[in-house]
Amino acid sequence: MDDKMMFIDPHVHMTSRTTDDYQAMAQAGVVAIIEPSFWLGQPRTQVGSFQDYYSSLVGWEPFRAKQFGIQHYCTIGLNSKEANNEALAEQVMELLPLYFHKENVVAVGEIGYDDQTPAEDKYFRIQLEMAKELNMVVQIHTPHRDKKSGTIRSMEVCLEHGLDPSMVIVDHNNEETVKDVLDRGFWAAFTIYPKTKMGNERMVAVVKQYGSKNIIVDSSADWGVSDPLAVPKTASLMLRSGVSKADVVKTTYQNALDAFGKNGKMKESDWLQAEGINQTQLFNDNSVLRGQQPRVDDDLIK
Ligand SMILES: [Zn+2]
Repeated sequence: MDDKMMFIDPHVHMTSRTTDDYQAMAQAGVVAIIEPSFWLGQPRTQVGSFQDYYSSLVGWEPFRAKQFGIQHYCTIGLNSKEANNEALAEQVMELLPLYFHKENVVAVGEIGYDDQTPAEDKYFRIQLEMAKELNMVVQIHTPHRDKKSGTIRSMEVCLEHGLDPSMVIVDHNNEETVKDVLDRGFWAAFTIYPKTKMGNERMVAVVKQYGSKNIIVDSSADWGVSDPLAVPKTASLMLRSGVSKADVVKTTYQNALDAFGKNGKMKESDWLQAEGINQTQLFNDNSVLRGQQPRVDDDLIK
């Protein structure tokens, strides 16, 4: 056993990323990830596009992640932006229950507000009711505009619907929202974006001020300017900045596991007892290989 640290990135859109990213993440110690269902950068026009997207999050993408040594989980929901197409949103509501029970689905998400429109509010509440009914964890996307009021409103609506704050992860926090989220007993996740918004220096300061209880670090890496190594990089900066290893472990691994592991689908044994990489495996007759030699790890001690 070495003492290499293990990390969980509980918010990363791997569908938009390359195999190089998977390899770099595994190399840096990322053992598990959660891929929230989200907007693809261009609005979908048909319910079938949602269906195929959700199917890839419970099918091909976990297979692909495993081919590079990473355990993949996801959250399923209708994102706030596309909730504004009500005709389509209605059809998506019918679709969601078909996915909530899939084996790697650990929460309803990412849901919440974008522009805080009436349609967004309507579908946010419908999905909160679904989560409550199934006793599922909820992952909330807080708006980038009117961040503070949108964050507080998201939590108030959760409470109004009778959700237990310990079942709700409020994401994309910053220094202005963290206290309100922690005071109400919700999980406070932070997205580390390169150069802008919540940089990792600011994250270090937050952990120094608020400690590690209920605080979670993620990358939200997607098709935009973002960094899939944000979690291990922030952990490294925290250690170099004098944050205790215990606090680093909590904010970059354990809290994400505690928060998203509540339904028992995501557990440490999934990666601690995982078989080695075997790239000869196929998913519906397809592999991640393009004629390359497959990597096959054996379990022999060398
Ligand atoms: Zn996201």
